[in-house]
Amino acid sequence: MNIPKTMRKYCPKCKTHTEQKVSIYKPGKRRGSARGERRHAERKHGYGGQKFPKLAKPAKVTKKVTTIMTCTVCKKKYNKLGIRIKKFELVAA
Ligand SMILES: [Zn+2]
Repeated sequence: MNIPKTMRKYCPKCKTHTEQKVSIYKPGKRRGSARGERRHAERKHGYGGQKFPKLAKPAKVTKKVTTIMTCTVCKKKYNKLGIRIKKFELVAA
């Protein structure tokens, strides 16, 4: 699916339609020292440590793509709800 690099959309801060830049959200690097990661490692530790079945095959064939909209007037950023697409491409429009 082709996504245009710029779109004219409603900006919640300007309260009007403005030109907005589109970029793709990417999750950050996972930290091993984060609380949830340490808890997970502790639960998996030792005999009988796997507490939930490992996924034999993934249930979904697509991944959700979240787009970040940046207002060119006030520089406000907000995320759009993720949509499931197999392949995406940012194109100049
Ligand atoms: Zn704005």
